[in-house]
Amino acid sequence: MTLHQGLGMPAPCICDDAADGILLPVEVALARALALANPVSGSEALPLRAATGRITAAPVTSPMPLPPFDNAAMDGYGLDPATLVGTGPWVLPVAGRVRAGDTPAPCPPGTALRILTGAAVPTGVDAVVPQEEVVRQGDRILLRLRPAIGAHIRRAGDDLQAGADILPAGRAIGPREAGALAAVGQGHVAVRRRVRVAILSTGSELVEPGAPLAPGQIWNANRAQLTAALALPCVDLIDLGPIPDQPDLIAAALRRAAAEADLIVTTGGVSVGDEDPTPRLVQAAGGTVHAMKLAMKPGKPLTLGTLGGAVWLGLPGNPVASFVTWMVVGAPVLRALAGLSAPVVAPQSARLATAVRHKTGRCEYRPARRAGVDAGGLMLVDCLADAGSHRVAQLACADGLALIPAEASDLAAGDRIAFLPF
Ligand code: AMP
Ligand code: MG
Repeated sequence: MTLHQGLGMPAPCICDDAADGILLPVEVALARALALANPVSGSEALPLRAATGRITAAPVTSPMPLPPFDNAAMDGYGLDPATLVGTGPWVLPVAGRVRAGDTPAPCPPGTALRILTGAAVPTGVDAVVPQEEVVRQGDRILLRLRPAIGAHIRRAGDDLQAGADILPAGRAIGPREAGALAAVGQGHVAVRRRVRVAILSTGSELVEPGAPLAPGQIWNANRAQLTAALALPCVDLIDLGPIPDQPDLIAAALRRAAAEADLIVTTGGVSVGDEDPTPRLVQAAGGTVHAMKLAMKPGKPLTLGTLGGAVWLGLPGNPVASFVTWMVVGAPVLRALAGLSAPVVAPQSARLATAVRHKTGRCEYRPARRAGVDAGGLMLVDCLADAGSHRVAQLACADGLALIPAEASDLAAGDRIAFLPF
């Protein structure tokens, strides 16, 4: 008999694992969540400067080679090595000067041109000799060594050929992507539409920060936490606010979220207590539950499913659990919905600076601080003492999460560990 049946309530979900009391491995829950998270359809063409942080909707192909023309890689003198007779040294008249942005005339045979970095290489120039390697004598140069053909010339297309993909679909536009798009002249770029994310925090005990507390009340940490986590260019936030633990109010908010959102993130109400009705209300509104009761700590109550056309994430109420489950499952789901081709961020390799105790069974995500590097250059991390899913102040002092695998028992200082930086 499940706990919910024991309480005289209908089983809250279709999830057999949970009904059997089995805790679902985090990887399985994440895979199920990602299977629900198809990229949002619809794209828009944005001016490049308004597209930072957005996700490319299609591959972008360069209409031209990059660089677009042969140009000088150094300040120096352009000449044609094929016209240098004998073994040198050679004295050549300087027939002109060409700067970046000039449209140069051809270089007469037997002469050199003063040429500056980025200038188009004119006809008749097949090498650039850096200015440090010649002696300038009035309007002539003395050259001692024969330059190689093509020396210090950046050839057209050596970075990218015309027609080649400059970016694939599913890439976030950051500084490197923006720079590459600009370099091939893309004034606009097609990006996926924003993901509409509805958030609501359940709990009759919640008061917004800034307002006074009555006895027994607490300030709403999860709403601020999620608002900050979702302050992203690819997100349209629908803030449905704090909702008291009244089924009719939660149901109304869920209906609105289902009508408007691609992703619904609730906090609280997913444990097994009497006041934890969110999965039941999601199902009553026509939603489905795909995973609940995870083998993770904190975050065991994380529940996920669908409602309307949206993915629903029921994060636990405790703020550390809420944050960790957001980071481990929620953020990858958001990135998948946004259209990112690689939504899961791999953890970094690290070593424990001090021992940690761990009971096998659940994968533990321990807030940890960076503590320097070991002799081999590997990052050292120090797990914060006494992790607790309510210790939101301690979380703010950490640099990331140390991942203690479910099957691990106590770990010693120096043991290898995976680390997810914030
Ligand atoms: P719940 O998951 O609703 O049973 O909540 C678990 C614990 O987290 C309780 O101690 C709640 O008071 C607390 N909690 C729930 N929601 C929030 C919130 N938005 N901000 C801070 N604490 C919360
Ligand atoms: Mg609650």
